[in-house]
This record gives sequence, structure tokens and C-alpha cells, in this order.
Amino acid sequence: MITTHIETLRYRRADDPVSTLATPSAPGLKDQHSRNINYLRISLTDVCNLRCVYCMPESMTFKPEPEMLQLDEFEALIKIFAKLGFNKFRYTGGEPTLFKALPTLIKNVQDAAPDALQALTTNGITLAHLATPLRDAGVQRVNISIDTLHPGRYRDITRWGRLQDALNGLEAAERAGLQVKINAVIVRGWNDQEDVIELAKLSQHKPWQIRFIELMPFGGGIHSFQQDRIVSEQELRDRISAALGPLELQNNGTLDGEARVFALHGAKGSLGFISSVTAPFCASCNRARLTADGKLRLCLLRPDEIDLRTPLRQGQSVTDMNSHIRKAIFRKPWGHGLDQDEFATDRAMSEIGG
Ligand code: SAM
Ligand code: SF4
Repeated sequence: MITTHIETLRYRRADDPVSTLATPSAPGLKDQHSRNINYLRISLTDVCNLRCVYCMPESMTFKPEPEMLQLDEFEALIKIFAKLGFNKFRYTGGEPTLFKALPTLIKNVQDAAPDALQALTTNGITLAHLATPLRDAGVQRVNISIDTLHPGRYRDITRWGRLQDALNGLEAAERAGLQVKINAVIVRGWNDQEDVIELAKLSQHKPWQIRFIELMPFGGGIHSFQQDRIVSEQELRDRISAALGPLELQNNGTLDGEARVFALHGAKGSLGFISSVTAPFCASCNRARLTADGKLRLCLLRPDEIDLRTPLRQGQSVTDMNSHIRKAIFRKPWGHGLDQDEFATDRAMSEIGG
């Protein structure tokens, strides 16, 4: 039985006093709320080979190529961020493995910033042949999105994906020695029952973190679908513990990135809960996002963006770009307003990268 309630967990909440957050020696840039921002999530493309129901409509239209950053532009920007103290880069999308020059980009970033961590969030569909080249280039961690282990439901959720392709990708990632996490967005009425239990069971025998992600409302014409189908962390934890036994809180409740981590007794892996809607982690946010069309987005769920593509294409000096980015990061808003029913409608999730 779970006795720990969200309110009593020892993690930073959005209403924590700001003074507890300042970490003077931490890498990265400080924002106006004294948070250290050192993690850049980079959406390499808005294009995807799937159309997950909660992420984009089937008839999704993608941005024209000239608006998208090219390999050398991504490289130039990432190097600037690395010099500013950013030390974690995660490639996402759309589907980042569809960005043709991905291994080259990763290799070049690795050469320029050898101490930085490079990670990938992918649907895994193309990983069967890419896992080893990506590891060789410098990727250390991969989060693979698999919402169910049931082939029919996987197809329904992704609209046309083949579960076996994603599982082959997962196996290839494991063989390549990449640190693996599984992302599962839980959608009421689609995968919130036995799928959750089957996914949780994976953690018993594999050293993976299975991450249950609360559905977030976004733009892109599917807002009401998303709003109606959110399943809370508490509901999921209750369901898992009723089926598989008590969940043991890990790391004294300290967040692993954005996830609160639990484990089943004796399990090799763990269970992470990312509950942006019902238990936001804004107080400990350390991230900014670079969109595929070259905008620095300061909060996933707010429309504040700063254009980096135009000054880059106009040939602004590195010094000017540095100061542009510093000022932008300083203005990072405190947190999202989902609990006041404010949500970002300007972009679909696939255009930001999660
Ligand atoms: N295509 C890659 C993938 O699916 O892993 C990377 C991009 S995807 C936008 C990044 C993550 O966002 C995935 O784990 C996906 O499941 C999650 N995601 C997409 N739409 C979401 C939504 N409305 N709410 C919560 N998570 C979402
Ligand atoms: Fe594509 Fe990822 Fe969005 Fe699914 S969640 S449609 S795989 S970008």
C-alpha cells in the first residue's frame, strides 16, 4: 500500500521559496528566479514517421525547409550554449533520428564539448540500425517512447506504427550499451489499464526506468482530446501498487530530471512519474528548448520565445549571440499555468520536442 502522498514528498515544488534554489557553483546560466539553466533540449525537426494521437493530428503540416536550422547552424548554436556552461543536450523532435546528419552533429558536439552529456528522445522506430552509430558518435542515453506492449493498441495510438520496430530499436539500444529509459504517455481509455501494469513489470527484470508521463494539453488542434484524458500520477501509482505490490520511493524523493522515482520491491529498474499537470516541477526546472526553426523557447508550456535563427543568419558575432542568449535565459518565466487553465496553443508538442 502506498502511504506517501504527493504533498509529503521531499522534492522541490513550484511554491518553494526561491532562496532554496540558488546553487552558485552550478554550471549554466542563472535565470531571474535563481535557477541554474544548463540543459538544452533541441528539436531537430518537426517531421515524424508516426502520428501519436496525443501529439499531432493525422493531417499535420510541417514547416518549410528554409525555415529549419541546418546542421552547421545547430552546431554553431550548441557550441555557443556549451561555452555558456550548458552541459546536457537532448535531441528530440518530431523524430530526431529523421534528421539525416544526426551522427555527424553528435560527433561534432562531442569533439567540441567532450564533457557534455548527449542524449536522445526517440520513438525507436529507426534505432535498430542507428543505435550503434549514435553511441559511437557520442550519445550516452536514450529515452524510447513506447506507450503499450500491445501491438494493436500501439498501432492505434501511433496511428500506423509497428510495435515490433520500436522493440527492435529498444533491443539495439540495449545491445549498444546505451542507458535506456522508456517514456509512456498515459491516455485515459487508451492505455491506462493493463498496459500500465505490463510496462511497470518491465522494470522488474530490466535496469530501465519506465517513465509514466501525464498527458499535457497543447496546441495543434487536439486540445480537447488531451484535456479529457489526463490520468494523474496518484491514480497510476495506486493501480500499479494494487497489481504488483508497494512502490518504494527512491532517492528520498529527489527528482530525477522531471521524474519522481519509485521502484517495485527487488526490481532491477525503476518507475518514474512525470506529472507536469498534477505536481509540476517548475521550481527545479533547469532547461531551455531550441526549436527546429531556431527559436529559444523558455518554458515548454508558455509561448515565450526568442529568435536565434535571424541573428545567426545575419552573421552576428559570438559575443553578441552570447549576450542575446544570456538575456533571454534570465527572462525565463517561473512556471506554467496549467492549474489556471492556461496552456500554450502556439505550437504542437512535436514542434517543441517535449
Ligand atoms: N518522436 C520522439 C518520441 O516520440 O520520443 C521525440 C519527440 S516527442 C514530442 C517527445 C516526448 O513527448 C515523447 O515521449 C512523447 O510521448 C511525449 N509527448 C508527446 N505529446 C505529448 C503530450 N501531449 N503530453 C505529454 N507528453 C507528450
Ligand atoms: Fe512523433 Fe514522437 Fe509525436 Fe509520436 S510523440 S507523433 S513519435 S513526435
